[in-house]
Amino acid sequence: MKEAMLYEKLENLQVRCHLCQHRCTISEGHYGICAVRQNRGGVLYSLVYAKAIASHIDPIEKKPLFHFQPGSTSFSIATVGCNFHCPFCQNSDISQMPRDMKEIAGQDFPPESVVRAALRRDCQSISYTYTEPTVYFEYAYDTARQAHAAGLKNVFVSNGYMTPETVKTVAPYLDAINVDLKAFDDDVYRKYIGAELPKILQSIEAIYEAGIWLEITTLIVPSVTDTEAQIQGAAEFIASLNPNIPWHVSRYHPSYKFNAPPTPTNILKKAYEIGKAAGLRYIYLGNVWGEGENTYCWKCGALLIARLGFSVSQNRIFNNCCPECGEQIAGRYLSS
Ligand code: SF4
Repeated sequence: MKEAMLYEKLENLQVRCHLCQHRCTISEGHYGICAVRQNRGGVLYSLVYAKAIASHIDPIEKKPLFHFQPGSTSFSIATVGCNFHCPFCQNSDISQMPRDMKEIAGQDFPPESVVRAALRRDCQSISYTYTEPTVYFEYAYDTARQAHAAGLKNVFVSNGYMTPETVKTVAPYLDAINVDLKAFDDDVYRKYIGAELPKILQSIEAIYEAGIWLEITTLIVPSVTDTEAQIQGAAEFIASLNPNIPWHVSRYHPSYKFNAPPTPTNILKKAYEIGKAAGLRYIYLGNVWGEGENTYCWKCGALLIARLGFSVSQNRIFNNCCPECGEQIAGRYLSS
């Protein structure tokens, strides 16, 4: 348990948390929407500090990040809890445990041990992932600062509901982020997720403006987020920020409380075409084995990075450029 960051004390022992856009006002003894932050005696505490529910070594491609240190490994950690409650969550056993099971599980894994473990396993970065890192922000922040001091990079995999204050606080230590832009319809966000689209877009803009390497994922869920209007809206929004931002359109599989059939691949291919027409230069298909995984030069079409699943079999990017036509390829690369 650790006192929270970014909250304010109000009258009558109430507090308001400013970590995510819910900005929960929490009465004494109560919890925030994420169920892992509690007001005890007018002080807000994180109940998951240094309590890791998962730690794995993942390829960076699994985040997914395709233009950030491709081919590297990332030491990946999570606690329980989430500020969203998506019915199609692919990690609900972790994210929804405090709400569904009324349990906060996890093993002691303090920041210095996480950094040591990442270095020992030759990882190039630490990823705060599997559930929303904002809800374990103090843990991620302390770890990220120590990771930077040790020469490691830091990666968030986020639903993008951080407040601008949170983005500003973590930006000096955060090198890359994949944000889930889950829908492009405020009604869908409100009905299925309990969040608001304009606030997500505000966060994405803040992340982009902070200079953090940004990739975006959209899970195409049949009958929820698969409309042409939503796909087009998302593509145009991303392109308006910067056409170099990679967009991962990802295939849904039945999970948690949602039981529609998997997304037909022709809808993902349609999303790819819509993204291209909107001007996006790098679009990838997620959860589709052997298709839509390679990176091509947007200018001359040369194959730059060949992937199969999460593994990189070839990386031809040289000095951040296409070796065929010399065009700069947006991203953060280890060395070339
Ligand atoms: S992090 Fe949790 S407590 Fe804080 S505003 Fe978000 S949901 Fe509420």
